[in-house]
Amino acid sequence: MRENLSYEQFGVAVRELAQTIADDGYQPDVVLSIARGGVFVAGGLAYALDCKNIHLVNVEFYTGVGTTLEMPVMLAPVPNAIDFTDKKVLIADDVADTGKTLKLVRDFCLDAVAEVRSAVIYEKTQSLVKCEYVWKRTDEWINFPWSVLPPVHTSGQAPRENREAL
Ligand code: 5GP
Repeated sequence: MRENLSYEQFGVAVRELAQTIADDGYQPDVVLSIARGGVFVAGGLAYALDCKNIHLVNVEFYTGVGTTLEMPVMLAPVPNAIDFTDKKVLIADDVADTGKTLKLVRDFCLDAVAEVRSAVIYEKTQSLVKCEYVWKRTDEWINFPWSVLPPVHTSGQAPRENREAL
């Protein structure tokens, strides 16, 4: 079984998640997205919460469906924690599965920032980080709209603007 999220459902999810955060009275100074999946979530949340400050941290962990490296690793360039000093940070990611990725980023923030909270579209039961804001809980593998299809390759066709109007 898979949990399938469409782009349309994602649009609803991110607005609902933002509403929960706003209703809780949390106004982040910085949205810190975990690339790559968290970038979509961070963008949606930052607009909905009217936060203009987005940062990005690249973390690599999964190598396939359910297969991972031993530990998640932050890839260069690692953000400068000084940028977050005394800031209220909202970490945004697509899913907390084992929670190891979020824990790595949370721990990175903890000493530097005024406050850190996490928001995810999905959280699984096994997650060792319990996020403050979760849209939906599932234990299935999730198909996200941005990663469910393989990357595009050159089609051999002329660029779209040179083709007849569709
Ligand atoms: P964690 O460290 O919590 O195990 O996983 C963090 C990252 O792994 C997520 O941000 C996501 O990119 C990827 N991941 C974990 N579980 C899933 C899943 O069920 N579906 C997809 N598409 N990616 C996942």
